Amino acid sequence: MLRFMLEILKTYYTEEQKAELEYLCSGDTDLYCRKKNQIRQDARKAIDLSQISPVKKSQYNLILNYIGNQSLLHEIDCIEKEFLPVRKKVSKKEYQDQFQKLFRLRNQFAKSAGFANYLEYQYMLLGIDAEILEQILETNRKHQYSEKSLLREKIQQWKHTPCFKPENQIELLKKVLDHFHLQIKWEEVQIHNENLPQFYIGNCISINVPDESHVLINQVSGLSGFSILMHEIGHAYYYNNIRQDSLQWANRPYNAVIEEFVALAFENLVYSPQFLSTFLDSDEDLLLDKLNYQTNYLCCCALFEKNIYGKDTPDFDQEWETACDSFSVSRDKAWRSPHFFVSYPGFFAVDVIAGCLVKMFYKQIGINDTVMNNYLQKQICAPGFQLDFYRVISQLGIGLR
Ligand SMILES: [Zn+2]
Repeated sequence: MLRFMLEILKTYYTEEQKAELEYLCSGDTDLYCRKKNQIRQDARKAIDLSQISPVKKSQYNLILNYIGNQSLLHEIDCIEKEFLPVRKKVSKKEYQDQFQKLFRLRNQFAKSAGFANYLEYQYMLLGIDAEILEQILETNRKHQYSEKSLLREKIQQWKHTPCFKPENQIELLKKVLDHFHLQIKWEEVQIHNENLPQFYIGNCISINVPDESHVLINQVSGLSGFSILMHEIGHAYYYNNIRQDSLQWANRPYNAVIEEFVALAFENLVYSPQFLSTFLDSDEDLLLDKLNYQTNYLCCCALFEKNIYGKDTPDFDQEWETACDSFSVSRDKAWRSPHFFVSYPGFFAVDVIAGCLVKMFYKQIGINDTVMNNYLQKQICAPGFQLDFYRVISQLGIGLR
């Protein structure tokens, strides 16, 4: 009975992924919201009609993904998707009003799904341990990194290097993966890099894990532009190599942190001395500087989000100032600047923890020979959704538990 239910939900989930892929290729907001709503209403109906006990239901992420008031969720989707492409063009007042509306509706939805607020719901779906996040924020509060404009300058010197031109990036990508023994099954990964809507840079969508994933990228020249392509390929590598076991797939805990960790490991590889010496004939090592570079800002954003969702009627400007001051981030960078507060609540928490894991990964595991591929494949991907998050953390030496 349960297995049957999960198989049905998996079909709905796949349909939803297909709709999202179509949306990322076409930018057709209306069509996407309509399709997604229909799929989710159907999935919700299937769950309601089943005889599975609430306790059992709460054990499966795939079921929890479809609980709550789906009409509210549809409303949230519509507002969010319409607002995203225009958000940089509206006044501060209008931005605040739209975000306020989203914030209220999201919390209302979370309550309908049995959660105190929307961030708590997202943390559960994404597999974020609030205590670990808190400890990482606390540690970074004590050891803050200075922003290094020097790093930006160094990266800038490769802005026009021929191998980083969009038309040459895919060729370089294949050489890099080969050089570091990172195995991608190309027959299962498709890259889309032409005629895409401009509201995002990169994305990776899995239709069937591990058989079909799509990397979508609006390519940007230069080293950092190339690192974004590497990041998305990191997601595809994760889907490529994760063990698929239909019932386990639906079970908790899915961990977005682990997936993002793999993507960030790929992204940051291009700042390593191994990459820079091999492909750019440079004797620089930018890896740690790059990893530390944005830490303060990411922590500030994660704290801001955690604080606003912890309150019923937060003052966003005030909360932003508090978060900025906690991590010595300039208050000039407004909370309206990154799109993730609108598009992906919980993203900054994922990124802060995953960033911390990547730092430990490069310190502990290193890059030489096949060690990186072996570790990622055997320790991270092979256990599939049964991967023990806490074991990874202790293995990499974060030592938080
Ligand atoms: Zn990512």
